[in-house]
Amino acid sequence: MARKRQTILLLSDRPALLGEHLDILYPGRVRKLNITSEKFSLRLLREFKHVITMVCSHENLSRLNYKSVTAYAAGGGQVMSCLFEYASNRGLQFSKTHVGDRVSPAMIIEVENDITRGYSVGDRVGWFGTVSGAADNLYSNQMLQRQVTGVNETEEVSILATSNINGGTVMLEEKVGKGRIVALDLLSPNRPFYNSPGGTNKFLFLGNLVNGAVRYGRHYPKRLSYDEFVEAMKALADEHSALSIQPEGPCSDGRDMWSLNIGDESNPTVYLGAAVHGWEWENSYGLLRLAEVLSGNPKIEGMNTSRLHFKIMPVQNPWGFDHFTRQNARGVDLNRNFDSGWNKLKDDQDVPLPWDFSYKGSRPASERETQVIQGIIDRLAPRCVIDFHTADYVLLHPYKGNLERIESIQQAIRRRLKNRYICQRPYGGPYQQVNMDRVYESKGPQPFLIDYAARRGVPMAFLIEMSGNRDDVHGLVMDTDTVVEICLAAIKECLRPD
Ligand SMILES: [Zn+2]
Repeated sequence: MARKRQTILLLSDRPALLGEHLDILYPGRVRKLNITSEKFSLRLLREFKHVITMVCSHENLSRLNYKSVTAYAAGGGQVMSCLFEYASNRGLQFSKTHVGDRVSPAMIIEVENDITRGYSVGDRVGWFGTVSGAADNLYSNQMLQRQVTGVNETEEVSILATSNINGGTVMLEEKVGKGRIVALDLLSPNRPFYNSPGGTNKFLFLGNLVNGAVRYGRHYPKRLSYDEFVEAMKALADEHSALSIQPEGPCSDGRDMWSLNIGDESNPTVYLGAAVHGWEWENSYGLLRLAEVLSGNPKIEGMNTSRLHFKIMPVQNPWGFDHFTRQNARGVDLNRNFDSGWNKLKDDQDVPLPWDFSYKGSRPASERETQVIQGIIDRLAPRCVIDFHTADYVLLHPYKGNLERIESIQQAIRRRLKNRYICQRPYGGPYQQVNMDRVYESKGPQPFLIDYAARRGVPMAFLIEMSGNRDDVHGLVMDTDTVVEICLAAIKECLRPD
């Protein structure tokens, strides 16, 4: 195989520190240069599309020839620089702030542009790491953020984000000739593990600079209760004439389940659901975002989505969504309650009881939520059903259906998500690109939503496990972006002739 062209140059006194993760995000594309042992010229810089600088030790500051970096930008180069060397070379005050655990350092977005894509002005993005010198401690009670102060905004210099700690600049953009330098500290934030409010989005702004990583995702500033989420659905439907909201019947706590609907019911249906395990809540926001994207742009990516009917149920388990549980209000795991292979599902508990991890209920479809969803599938006979979960990046096949077309959707998802996000798998495990490389084959009918759909003749029913189960909204740009991409891959396949 031909070697990929290296397009990104990392200049650092500890290149392995950042390089390890850049190699996961942009495999084969990163040249790592150690400024303490290797010299670099402007000519070398010009061989690359992007240059990243990270000086870790003040002793090595002079080894980074910032005149060359600036000249590279002036010629059209795209630079991301950590704050220390940027501030030192621009005569700005560099500031390093340690705080205790009552204050979570964040950046407040001040400008919406291609670098901050996914966020709105005023959004807070957690941006901090472990107190300096400490091991990479996941549950630190001391946090560190770097800023620069005394920045004067000019024609060339815009402050993209400020600190909630001291109002200092956390991210800025300086236009230099035909190119630019984005100054942002990549040294402070911890590695991007899944539940790290300070580091989950560490590579998002860099991704926006390198390849426009955020395409459809957006940040939702607050984690909503189910009632608030339904209000958000109603508000969205009020905004878009193409979008309607419908009650689908009561769930196990008596409140209504609600769906968002686009298009004519006589068209082939795409059913999209999330949070049937209530604590797997992030994808609900992804489906809310999808409804917004589709109703605002029915010709998205050149597709004629008006040939389809969409029924979107972002929260399939309202009680579990509110109480951060897997089960519904009666302690039943809804995704073990569907009328498909229910009798055969072994329960290895001594005495099966509600609130067991995967308690399947007293009989097939004993639960109201299950009945509502089965009713929708029976009535609309969808062409495609996606059930969104969170745990790990994997696609589950149904026990029957058109596996070829499902595989074709998976390949499209892989192409779409390539080289855009990096995150640690939930509950530990390796750092990896956020993508859909793995599949679980079916071992026969299970009482799963997708297997009920398959049993009722849905050709493309599959389950998606994305990353999630976070304790706050800090990963949502990435989550919502990937959910929308996955849905668009499936929609494209649904519009392809048989
Ligand atoms: Zn699940």
